[in-house]
Amino acid sequence: MEKIFFDHNKLNELISRNDYSNAARLLLREQIKIWPALEEAYNSLKTVQIKTFQYEGFIIKVQNNPGRLTSSSAKVDEKSITTRACFLCSGNLYSKQKAIKYGEDFLILVNPFPIFPEHFTIPHKNHILQLIKEWFGKMLLVSKDFSRDVIIYNGPACGASAPDHFHFQAGSKFFMPLDDGFHSLKNEYGEILVDNDSIVVAGIDDGLRKFISIETMEISLAEKVFDIFYSFYSRVSDEKTEPMMNSICFYEPGQAQDSENYGWRTLIFLREKHRPSHYFREGENRILLSPAAVDFGGVCILPLEKDFEKITKEDIAGIFREVSIGKEQFEYVKAELKKILKVNV
Ligand SMILES: [Zn+2]
Repeated sequence: MEKIFFDHNKLNELISRNDYSNAARLLLREQIKIWPALEEAYNSLKTVQIKTFQYEGFIIKVQNNPGRLTSSSAKVDEKSITTRACFLCSGNLYSKQKAIKYGEDFLILVNPFPIFPEHFTIPHKNHILQLIKEWFGKMLLVSKDFSRDVIIYNGPACGASAPDHFHFQAGSKFFMPLDDGFHSLKNEYGEILVDNDSIVVAGIDDGLRKFISIETMEISLAEKVFDIFYSFYSRVSDEKTEPMMNSICFYEPGQAQDSENYGWRTLIFLREKHRPSHYFREGENRILLSPAAVDFGGVCILPLEKDFEKITKEDIAGIFREVSIGKEQFEYVKAELKKILKVNV
């Protein structure tokens, strides 16, 4: 296993400062030098086609990214998964791929099929299931160590292409429109579920996406709210593994402890379906879009150029509505969560 580790004279210094965003970028620069397919993937991202759709109070971008075809169309049924070699296990990495050891349990890898201009995968060192429950607090710690990046989690049935191997992803902050559009979206469409000196929890329905936001300076409080949410939501959801969700975590270091924006913001998108009906249509009517956290963050990934050309604002809205939980169900979740949080937080 030792031979997979990245070695560089600047690496230890960055790690000693917990500056994992820059350690990961050092890895990316060095990997590009020796791995032609990776160089090609990151270069082609610079000229990728983008369209922007304007909705009431927010935008959604569409990226034509041919490199994501394998991932967007990945078969994630149990049989396909158990018969393929897991690409996140350290024994199965690409021949040129190197890893940074991240703490006792995780590795940092460059994502060879990028969406973000700098895109990393952070797998657990062991082949353990993609389930967020035990790892929610870890996601917040990771986002603090990766100060230039957002950390994302895709549920096992919500776009993770390795549902059998626990991993986060990290990508450049402010690439997704929701990174800086969050506060205005919350003001416009949010319902406050809890608001005190230590934590703000809101439920937001912008007509496309339905999500819960947790903003706090204390990890333990965020974990407590998440645990409450998770156990409530598991009871009302009929999933066998975990309720369907994607999550985006953003850490804002801030200049002062009293700054309004200091701390963690975690968004949890509530899902009804893995893939929309558009994905399964025949011929011309098919749109190959398999939504995951980045799409919910406001950058929809279309691997096929013909889909990119024809997709409309209404298609995007329809796809988000279809894969998100229903309006009534979300109203119920907000109302119940508000009651539970009121007595517990
Ligand atoms: Zn694995």
